[in-house]
Amino acid sequence: MRQWRESDPLIIEAGEGEFLIDAEGRRYIDGVSSLWCNIHGHRVAAIDQAIRDQLDRIAHSTLLGLTHEPAVELAARLCAIAPGDLTQVFYSDAGATATEIAFKMAVGYWYHTGQPERHTFIGLDGAYHGDTTGAMSIGYSDIFHRPFKPMTFETEFVAPGDLSALDAKLTELHGRGRGCAGVVIEPLVQGAAGMIMQPAGYLAGVQQLCREHDTLLIADEVATGFGRTGRMFACEHEAVEPDVLCLGKGLTGGYLPLAATLCTSRIAKAFEGELHEMKTLYHGHTFTGNPLACAAALASLDLFEQNDVLSEVQRKAKLMAQWLKPLNDHAGVCEVRQCGLIAGVELATAGAEDDASGAGGGTELGDFGESPSKYLRRIGYEVCNLARAYGVIIRPLGNVVILMPPLSIRDESLKQLIDVTARCIDQVTAS
Ligand SMILES: *Cc1c(COP(=O)(O)O)cnc(C)c1O
Repeated sequence: MRQWRESDPLIIEAGEGEFLIDAEGRRYIDGVSSLWCNIHGHRVAAIDQAIRDQLDRIAHSTLLGLTHEPAVELAARLCAIAPGDLTQVFYSDAGATATEIAFKMAVGYWYHTGQPERHTFIGLDGAYHGDTTGAMSIGYSDIFHRPFKPMTFETEFVAPGDLSALDAKLTELHGRGRGCAGVVIEPLVQGAAGMIMQPAGYLAGVQQLCREHDTLLIADEVATGFGRTGRMFACEHEAVEPDVLCLGKGLTGGYLPLAATLCTSRIAKAFEGELHEMKTLYHGHTFTGNPLACAAALASLDLFEQNDVLSEVQRKAKLMAQWLKPLNDHAGVCEVRQCGLIAGVELATAGAEDDASGAGGGTELGDFGESPSKYLRRIGYEVCNLARAYGVIIRPLGNVVILMPPLSIRDESLKQLIDVTARCIDQVTAS
């Protein structure tokens, strides 16, 4: 907090397309989509208009005991595009609330179907599911959450990419008579861990193991959803059909806070019963399913079709790979990872006493419990700070520089984003 106060915070006053504009009129490429959420750019006429039109009707009414048209229509459209047989939508307003709700849905499902002992989740090392207590428990990151560890609940963790470890853990939990409430995964890419990519086939393998061990698969697509990976949802790459799907960030095109937790009718049915059975999922947030946000989300979904966003992402992802390629050979870079329009450039931290992970180590957030200094090393920060002088806003995760532009970014801006990143890495690592 002190360092931020002592720095000169940038004040953003406006936006336009893939650009942010500061209080002095300077323009910057929004290289992280305003924290991984902007999809079609800023001030998109169709989304602005949809929000204004909704504003002319009503800004907010509750979903507790009432409903409204944008929420109903959006739920139907989400179910139609979501992978598999997801038929129910539970709205909330942040990624963390979407995941909390998913966890409560899973535990509630087992409780109401006669298996109350099933309340332990399996998560992946280095996973991130938000900053509320349940999300911290299952997406535990020592660097972010250490002071709060005593308030988290017990979760089992396995190394991402290792199917036999997951198999063994599922068997072990069943053996202990506990069973598993669900396996929670960020499909394909573990975002906050520093854009750690899973090996091909892993996600499908996780689904297979969940089916074999009769447990739920919970996919957290808060970051990967809505086109970032080149498909609408990352699960589609491996034809995976989760039992529960968490959405947030890009849901409204990155305009307004809205999140959704989707589940199958099998799960939803467990919450139906006679009044005295008290089966309702007693969970709700005041601004759940806000109409303005739902209107923005509907307009965003229209734009996906009108602008053929998914093929555009696939085309631009190839350009991105081509333009990032030279960085692979850069002495200051130990690995470049990319999936769709998501990239992480891991900077080498050579000569540092605690750099034992080596090239491609990449799992800093997951396993560097003993060396927070690694996260605090300023090299990633310095690269991103310098980029501002060249009109680019990017943000590091430790020594990983994240590039995650709005999907609408024009080719020349994408090139500029990568060129500036490379130039800043040159300058910072040379000094
Ligand atoms: C950002 C993120 C969250 C948390 O979303 P918030 O809206 O910040 O609460 C959860 N899961 C993943 C995968 C994320 O990237």
